Amino acid sequence: MILKNIRINTLLRLGLGLILALVILLGAVALVQTNFLWSQTELIYKHPLQVSRAVGQLKADIENMRRAMRDLLLADNDQEMIKAQKDIEVSTLDAARQFEVVYDRYLGPRSDISSLEDDFVEWKIFQEELVQLAHAGRKDQALAQLKRAHARGQSSKVLVEHIQTISDFARNMGDKFYRQATLQNDSLKRHLVASLATILLVCIFISWFLMRRIRKPLADLTRAANEFRLGELDSRSEYVAENEFGALSAAFNEMAETVETQMFINEQAALITGMMLQEREVRTFFQKLIKELLEHTASQSGAVYLLNKQETLFEHFESIGLSDIGHRSFSASTLEGEFGAALATGVMQRISDIPEDTRSILATVSGDYLPREIITLPLFSDGKVVAMISLSSIQNYEEKAIRFLETIVVTVTARMNGLLAYRQVQELAKRLGQQNMELNSQKQELIAQANELSHQNTELEMQKNQLDAANRLKSTFLSNMSHELRTPLNSVIALSSVLGRRLAGKIPKEEVDYLEVIERNGRHLLSLINDILDLSRIESGRIEISPSCFSLRMLMGEVLEMIDPEAREKGIALQNQIDENLQPITTDPEKLRHIVQNLVSNAVKFTETGSVVVSVQLVEDQIHIAVRDTGIGIAAEHLPHIFEEFRQADEGTSRRYGGTGLGLAIAKKYANLLLGDITVESTPGKGSTFTLCLPTDLCRPDAEVKNYLGRSAGTVSDLQDIGPGRGQCILLVEDSEPAVVQMTDILTEHGYLVEVARDGSDALAYVEGCLPDAVILDLMMPGMDGFEVLRQIRSTDRTAPLPVLILTAKHVTQEELSFLTGNNIHQLIQKGDINQSQLLATVAKMVAQSEEKLTAPTPGNTGDRPHRLLPLVLVVEDNPDNLKTARAILEERYTVIDAADGLTAIELAREHRPDLILMDIALPVMDGFSALAALRQDEVLRHIPVVAVTASAMKGDREEILGHGFDGYVSKPIDEKKFMQLLQKVIHGGK
Ligand code: ADP
Repeated sequence: MILKNIRINTLLRLGLGLILALVILLGAVALVQTNFLWSQTELIYKHPLQVSRAVGQLKADIENMRRAMRDLLLADNDQEMIKAQKDIEVSTLDAARQFEVVYDRYLGPRSDISSLEDDFVEWKIFQEELVQLAHAGRKDQALAQLKRAHARGQSSKVLVEHIQTISDFARNMGDKFYRQATLQNDSLKRHLVASLATILLVCIFISWFLMRRIRKPLADLTRAANEFRLGELDSRSEYVAENEFGALSAAFNEMAETVETQMFINEQAALITGMMLQEREVRTFFQKLIKELLEHTASQSGAVYLLNKQETLFEHFESIGLSDIGHRSFSASTLEGEFGAALATGVMQRISDIPEDTRSILATVSGDYLPREIITLPLFSDGKVVAMISLSSIQNYEEKAIRFLETIVVTVTARMNGLLAYRQVQELAKRLGQQNMELNSQKQELIAQANELSHQNTELEMQKNQLDAANRLKSTFLSNMSHELRTPLNSVIALSSVLGRRLAGKIPKEEVDYLEVIERNGRHLLSLINDILDLSRIESGRIEISPSCFSLRMLMGEVLEMIDPEAREKGIALQNQIDENLQPITTDPEKLRHIVQNLVSNAVKFTETGSVVVSVQLVEDQIHIAVRDTGIGIAAEHLPHIFEEFRQADEGTSRRYGGTGLGLAIAKKYANLLLGDITVESTPGKGSTFTLCLPTDLCRPDAEVKNYLGRSAGTVSDLQDIGPGRGQCILLVEDSEPAVVQMTDILTEHGYLVEVARDGSDALAYVEGCLPDAVILDLMMPGMDGFEVLRQIRSTDRTAPLPVLILTAKHVTQEELSFLTGNNIHQLIQKGDINQSQLLATVAKMVAQSEEKLTAPTPGNTGDRPHRLLPLVLVVEDNPDNLKTARAILEERYTVIDAADGLTAIELAREHRPDLILMDIALPVMDGFSALAALRQDEVLRHIPVVAVTASAMKGDREEILGHGFDGYVSKPIDEKKFMQLLQKVIHGGK
């Protein structure tokens, strides 16, 4: 039995150790015996054998000595004697050596050797005596002694006998040793056979024993494994022992047990999972779950607690067999009580040490019982515990039950999450349904409101139409009003000015001042009317933006130049801090001029001492024009309102400085139209800074044209350098009437004589007859276009040096541009870009160039033009006041005749051939346009310059009037200075 429990490993070691020990023993025995045999052999060799050999040799030596002695005694001569004596000596020496061996190796009694030695010594002495006798020549005596000695027995024979004794003893000893060795050999053989037999037997036994110990458990295990494999899950190995097979068998049994249990648990889990999947409602799901859990874990009570929406408490949801205490909620934050550990760790807890106040008290008919064990199972959703299952039992839970719970917890969690999500979705769906209904009713309401709105829309549309009509009426009213107001104003301003000048010194100073007051107020009223007109145009959207690429520096220069006299008068330094290298910008130059003019004149107006600084800064793609003054400033409370119409900072300011309160409103509206804005910063008493921000490129400019302009556009300083025209003849080749009028107007106003050719062939015919100082050529014309005209001009030597300025509305392609530049054009100006000062600068430059180039006098110069010595001006005006005003202004320098309508005017013109006709447009009988047409048709009168004088100031009026062929345009009220300048130019050609 004990052997059975010995480990196989130990058994194998024992068996093999035993065999090894026996082999070692066998080896040792063999070694000992062999050593013994060897010592026997060595003994035989060293002693009996050596002794026998020495004794034999000794015998031979004695015989030799005896024989040599005889030879000596019988020797006939000395030689024989010497030889015999030498032989005796050699043998004596050898005998002595043999004695040494015998003495050393002889094992018998020492007396044998000593008696032999004594006899030998005695015999030797006798021998020596004989030798001496022989040498003494007494050989006979010697022989006689020898015979006597023989007779007395003192011969070598005695020695030989002694030697024989020793030799016999030695032989006997050798025999004895041999016998002993033989015996030893036999014993060794016996021992070896016995040892081998023993070892064999032990090996056989060990093998048998081990085989028996291995085969049986192996067979048992194989059987059990096979049965298990074939599905007999309860099959177990019966082998029990404390060895390896015992351990293997136990492990197999345990594994089989585990698998069997797991299979069982899996089956149960599958059943419970099936149940769980069938349930769609949370409560019945948990009811059934608890029931199943109680059954499969042999629990007596079970409960489920769910985390409330506020996530503060776990509330009792469902339970079986629980007393009232178990229906209480427990805190989700304080980790106390029997559920604390499960909450803290998040894993299933098994509690055996049940606290007295447990909630899992079992309610039975016979009272409440304290359970023996409680299991708490936390269930997760989104990483946090949302439910807690508690099971309790009056017995200890089996491992199987625990494993069962561990197996199903994942499924329970997943299913619970699914159901909770489903419940949420249902709640949401319910809520959505309600919201849907609400939305539906709102939709109905909205539809009703929309209907109402559309009804209101229609009404609004009607109102808008009425408003538009009213607006149109307003515009017409304003236009008419402006006409009506401007006409009397014209008279008021002009006459008060004339009166003031004429009566100065003749009437008291106070009265002259009155006249000044009248004139100033008239001008104020006029600027108010103009502002209102501007505002009304902006509001009605009738303002058009005409962007062009131009030099901002030049425009600013012009504005500052214009306002500079006013600033000087007030002793204010107007500083221009604009960078010389500022690139051209693209925007509407006239609007920009208006804004800047307004800002700068306001700055000058509201500054008493100090300076007004104008600077321009480029910030990314924006241009910032800042007007900084050191004037009165604006109080913070007024700042937000100064851009509003008719708003002035305060009454004091308006009283002191006047103004309409419309300037900034218009400026801001213009800035907005140009996609920009005006901002203001101001400190009362210290000054204000108005900043206008504009995009540098309002629309995409034609890069080529821009570059071309940028390269050779004239500047104000150019103009100043060269000065205005002095009657030089410009041939304008242009088919568009408005352009002709506009150009003629600008150029004649500045002292040029303009000849117009309406098409290409006209132009060529003109230059054939006489050479102008310069040509302004349009590119797109009916018939022969500008390119052909240019080509032909450049093709003859006479006309080739003519400076040509191209003025076109056409988009010029790269190819065309190359043609134009290749044909030496002076400059190319886009029609939309016409900037009066730039044009004049360019023309002046061109003409100056021409004068240098053309040496031959031109037939079209001022010397050829007829002019009168007594300028006679025919004023055609139906309004007596206006007529009086005109006369008042003109009479000092001109002879004035007048007509009240167009027809009379023509008659008077025929009669008097005036140098100039000033023509009102709105006239009785025949209006200004018709009268002009009639004049132009008359061969004699067609050359008389006719200047339109009108109070009409609406947009397009000027263009429309000039488009009729008037030589000039003057708006009422007449600015006396400008008016006189224009007349001067028209009548005297600028001289
Ligand atoms: P106004 O014709 O009265 O000048 P504006 O619209 O041009 O009308 O200006 C509105 C008001 O803004 C002015 O009356 C003045 O009080 C104030 N204002 C404008 N510019 C300045 C300035 N540079 N310094 C001080 N006050 C200014």
